[in-house]
Order: sequence, then structure tokens, then C-alpha cells
Amino acid sequence: MDPIRFTPPLYEQRYEFVKAYINIHKPKKVADLGCSECSLLHKLKFWDCIEELVGVDIDEEILRRKGYTLMPLPFHYLDPLESPLSVTLYHGSVAEKDPALLGFDLITCIELIEHLETKDLEQFQDVLFGFLAPKAAVISTPNVEFNVLLSEKACFRHPDHKFEWSRKEFQSWAMNIARQYNYTVEFTGVGEAEPKSKDVGYCSQIGIFTKNYNESEESFNIKKSHTSVYKRILHVEYPSIQEEKYLRKVVLKNALLHADRLKTNFLQNLYPEEDEENVNMADCEKKTCAVSRWISGFQTPIEAEEGKVKPPFLEGDAIHVPLETLFAVPKVKKLCGSLDVLQQMMNGEILLSSDGSAVVYPLHVEHDLDSEMSDA
Ligand code: SAM
Repeated sequence: MDPIRFTPPLYEQRYEFVKAYINIHKPKKVADLGCSECSLLHKLKFWDCIEELVGVDIDEEILRRKGYTLMPLPFHYLDPLESPLSVTLYHGSVAEKDPALLGFDLITCIELIEHLETKDLEQFQDVLFGFLAPKAAVISTPNVEFNVLLSEKACFRHPDHKFEWSRKEFQSWAMNIARQYNYTVEFTGVGEAEPKSKDVGYCSQIGIFTKNYNESEESFNIKKSHTSVYKRILHVEYPSIQEEKYLRKVVLKNALLHADRLKTNFLQNLYPEEDEENVNMADCEKKTCAVSRWISGFQTPIEAEEGKVKPPFLEGDAIHVPLETLFAVPKVKKLCGSLDVLQQMMNGEILLSSDGSAVVYPLHVEHDLDSEMSDA
């Protein structure tokens, strides 16, 4: 018998299922129980809506070995996220209550329950649905009916599996839980058999549980005071523009990128290379030309909105790029919200005019640089 090969692989299909669910329901706080090598957490860590990501596994060694894949890289400090993101890994058993996992929007248990002994499974269901009570839970487990297509031998798919359920067994377990803990449950799965195969259901069966009630603050606070039992293995906060220091960096980067481009354009038009067209231009004509062409320093017409933003100008021996003009750049406007905030962010970081209304580029520096370069 040819073994069935899924494309994409079955584990990928399970992750894709979770990702599709997250895309629709936009949970902010997500925990993965039995996270093993943290592969699902890794895939979820830059999901727009997710701000808190937690993994739990009873295998401490695997968490220590694979947890590093969840840590920020130097690059993330240069390009901070828009929303906050924390990632935490705990060593512990899903059969034990820990308040660290209270208040979650989604808890996933992907191919976990079949690894639990009967007693642990009973405790787990009380921990998950009675204590943690997330807004939603996604539980996947092998569907034993599919096994006839995987192997001729009657055996479990993995030596550590304590059971493998038929669709009826899984659904009756899940519906009992839903009734007991006031959840609604729907069933689906991933990994389909060839159409010509007999009806064996999906290879991985999935239950999606949705909570039917809002917990009172009082009950939540009582649970919050429960003693912690999990051991924290990793906790990282990704740099995000929600933190003032990173917001300032991103604002400066975006505003100065434009300021530099506008200044360079203005300068090029002010001192164009002498060619047939402008060799006879008077200085005042050159300035007019520079002012009218400065706008091409913007990347898009929306940014430019010619006429609504002030052009750079020469004052004394320096080019001035008005902050008002930089504030017209959509990203800068979105990040700062007001011109005053832009001014505060730039103040002390870059040379501004005495009234703080423009970025100043002294012209003599340009000339010095030019002569240095021609000397070299
Ligand atoms: N969810 C992972 C994925 O989809 O990539 C794979 C899960 S793996 C098949 C089962 C995991 O459950 C193992 O990493 C195992 O250590 C963990 N596990 C078993 N019993 C557990 C328990 N009582 N508490 C927490 N994790 C447990």
C-alpha cells in the first residue's frame, strides 16, 4: 500500500487552518499548548493582530532548544513593529492551572490531547475550559478512521499516543465539554482522502470551541490570584513603535529620508550642471526653477500635493526644509498625529531652525564636502 502524502504536509495544513482562523477572528492574545518545537508560534509571531503569544510544553529541553527562534533579531530594532508583541514560553503541564494563561482570546491544542493519560485529559479539560476559559479554543487530534489509509497494520500513528479517536468519539467528548462549560463547538478537519476512498473523514479532526458567556471581573480576579506553577523559560518583548524610543527612531528615519531627498533635489535644481538649457539663466531664474522642481523629491503625487505644502527655501547660507512639508508625508503624519509631535521628536536629534519649524542644511558643509571629494 502506497503511503498517502499530503501536499502541503499535514502539519502545515493544521497551521494553515489556525492562521485562517486567526485572520477571521483577529485574536490579540494567543497561547499554544503542547507547542513542542514552537513551529506554530514561529508562524504566528508577526501576525498583525497578535500582541501576546505564549507557548506551553511539558518538555523543557525542547523549549530551551527551539525557543531561540522566537527571539528578536538585531534587524527588528532597526525596523520596529507597529503593534506591541511579547512572546513567552512556559515549561509545565496542561493538566495544571496557571494564571499566566488567563484572559486569552484563543488557545490552540494541536495534536496534544492524544498524548495525555486519561487522568491528565480529565484535568486538562477542566483547566482549559473551566479555569482558563479562553474566548475560543482549537483542538486537533488524529482521526483513527483515517488510519486504514495510512497503514495496513492496526497501530497508533505515534508510539506516545495514549488513544486515537474516531469522529464519533471525538465529537461526543467535545460536545460533552461544550455543554458542561458553556461553549459552542463546530467540527472540521484537515487532510482529505482521495475522493474515491471510502468515507473516513479528515486525517486530523478539529474542534473549534467558542465561549458563550462573558466572565465576571470578580471570578476572573479570583482565578488571577491562583498560585503560579509554570516555569518561565523565555520572555521577549519585540521592539515596537508603541514605545516612545522606537517611535522616535521610525519618525526620524521617515522624515529625514524625505528631508534629505527634498534638499538634494532643491540643491540640484539650484546648481544644475551647466548645460545648453541653463547656461544663460540668471541666478533668480535658477532659483525659481529649483523651487518649482523641488517637489519631485516626494515619492508619490499624494505625498507631494503641490501647492498645499511649502517648498524648501534658502535662508542665509542654508537650505531649510519646513517640518510642515515633512508632516505632509502620509507615514510621518500617521506616526506623529500632529505637527507639534513631529517637532518634539526631531528636536535635539537634528539641526532645526531657531523657531523649530524647519530642518536646516548648511550649504557650506555641502561645499566643503564637494571640495574634499574633488581633492581626493
Ligand atoms: N503542537 C505541536 C505542533 O503542532 O507542531 C506538536 C505537538 S506534539 C505531537 C505533542 C506535544 O505535547 C509534545 O511536545 C509534548 O511534549 C507535549 N505534551 C505532552 N503532554 C503534555 C502535558 N501534559 N502538558 C504540556 N505538554 C504536553
